[in-house]
Amino acid sequence: MTEEREAIADGVPAHVLFEEGLGLSYDDYILLPGYIDFHASQVSLETRVTRRITIKRPIVSAPMDTVTETEMAIGLALQGGLGIIHYNNTPEEQAAMVRRVKRFENGFISDPVVLGPRHTIADVDHIKQTHGFSGIPITEDGTLNSRLVGIVTNRDIDFEKDRSRPLAEVMTTDLVTAPVGVTLSEANKILKESKKGKLPVVDSERRLVALVSRNDLIKNKEFPEASKDPRKQLLVGAAVSTREEDRRRIDLVIEAGADVLVIDAAQGYSRFELDTLRYIKETAPHVDVVAGNVVSVTQAEAMIRAGADALRIGMGPGSICITQNMMAVGRAQASAVSRCAHYARQFDVPVIADGGIRGIGHILKALAIGASTVMLGSLLAGTAESPGEYLYENGIRVKQYRGMASLEAMNAGGGKRYLNENDGVQVPQGVAGTVVDKGSLQDYVPYLHKGISQGFQDMGVRSIPELHEALYSGRLRFERRTPAAQEEGSVHSLVSYREPRWGIR
Ligand code: GDP
Ligand code: GDP
Ligand code: 5GP
Repeated sequence: MTEEREAIADGVPAHVLFEEGLGLSYDDYILLPGYIDFHASQVSLETRVTRRITIKRPIVSAPMDTVTETEMAIGLALQGGLGIIHYNNTPEEQAAMVRRVKRFENGFISDPVVLGPRHTIADVDHIKQTHGFSGIPITEDGTLNSRLVGIVTNRDIDFEKDRSRPLAEVMTTDLVTAPVGVTLSEANKILKESKKGKLPVVDSERRLVALVSRNDLIKNKEFPEASKDPRKQLLVGAAVSTREEDRRRIDLVIEAGADVLVIDAAQGYSRFELDTLRYIKETAPHVDVVAGNVVSVTQAEAMIRAGADALRIGMGPGSICITQNMMAVGRAQASAVSRCAHYARQFDVPVIADGGIRGIGHILKALAIGASTVMLGSLLAGTAESPGEYLYENGIRVKQYRGMASLEAMNAGGGKRYLNENDGVQVPQGVAGTVVDKGSLQDYVPYLHKGISQGFQDMGVRSIPELHEALYSGRLRFERRTPAAQEEGSVHSLVSYREPRWGIR
């Protein structure tokens, strides 16, 4: 840009927009358009949630008991996001949810459930009920690493009335197997050619080593964006509190296979959180840890020093949240995200913009000021995959959604992120309410993805790294919006109108 052109440049770079001393929220600013020389379908939304974990879509679900349990975590990971399972439950219940997500899809199943010839069809029924699958390899003594003698699948037992029959009488013994050392691609090829549902992998003594399932190939084809670990299992996160008694929870969810731990505290700048962070880093250095919540550089610095692999930003912007009014502490969300992201960037620590996201426009604005992902509560709460049943409120189909520090959630055990002491007096920092039905994640996430991609196109950037490069080089231009400008940018002057299905932001 020449000097004269610079003097009349459009808008301002982010560091000018976010001057210290004035709290801005997403609605307070707008991005100016960039130059388009590509299609929206060419935009990549691949991003890092934590230092070591990359996903294809920048969407993380909130660890809340009306948002993320097994179904949400599976559905969102299949769609390229990441679910964080809440901890308003026993450590065992939470670990079981983590395990179910990790079991959902596989490359090589290295610890398949195995039975022996003397087990009965009823045993298979029981496995089907608890785990959801019924293709069971049969080995001589019913354990892994013993000689494979057959396999039992649905087709062997579907129509059998006598469920007490031993598996030796019904199992298939004519098996297609693969030798140990086979690559996943080769194993998949054998599965395709043999047209079998399961491929046992055996060593030279015919001892069972692993299993490959045809349905996983199909899942892999149907969900090419899915968030997976190197073993092709879905990625999943688990939230834990900073309480001493939750050390056991931490150990159990890690053992169950959680890829990410989120230390869930409304105000993360505490000795309790830093101790928890150090504990996880010492006991399980392979697990990435999200620390938070933080909103200031001082807080962010402490978390990063203690080893945080990502920061979760937000204090008080959540739709169900009354912290800022009740505690007089917090920060306007865009200012918090912008400041913390800028600081964390020099340490290569990604940040998650958590709370207050009302739609695609807000997701774009959060990413544009430095967030690598967004954490969604209310937007995901009304989907088919969130816990709870639909009900009708004034003729509208809704689901319950509640803050983890609402009286309702605290009574169910959920106040742990607020350092409440158990003295019988409760000061809620959240409310309970309802949100509108959003249908299935399988439609909703692709809608978000397409909307975000189109926003990237309007900004003239093709990826999140490019967006952040434009942000910090000053190429990305912003402008503050007056209340009149905000009104102008919303629907106005109509007698009536109908909102599109998923809202207008
Ligand atoms: P990578 O990047 O080297 O891991 O390669 P890919 O992701 O392309 O996977 C290697 C092979 O495994 C390909 O044949 C994929 O189709 C297949 N694959 C990917 N995910 C799964 C899965 O969940 N289950 C199975 N059975 N195969 C998978
Ligand atoms: P099945 O034919 O009833 O066994 O079921 P599917 O093949 O439809 O589904 C099995 C699914 O469960 C696949 O996605 C597997 O990766 C997964 N799975 C996880 N652990 C195991 C296991 O120990 N045994 C089997 N059979 N499947 C498992
Ligand atoms: P939403 O997407 O609904 O605007 O915000 C979700 C976020 O609100 C959560 O990820 C969490 O950080 C925060 N949150 C959840 N429950 C409560 C609560 O009871 N009180 C407060 N202050 N924040 C909450």
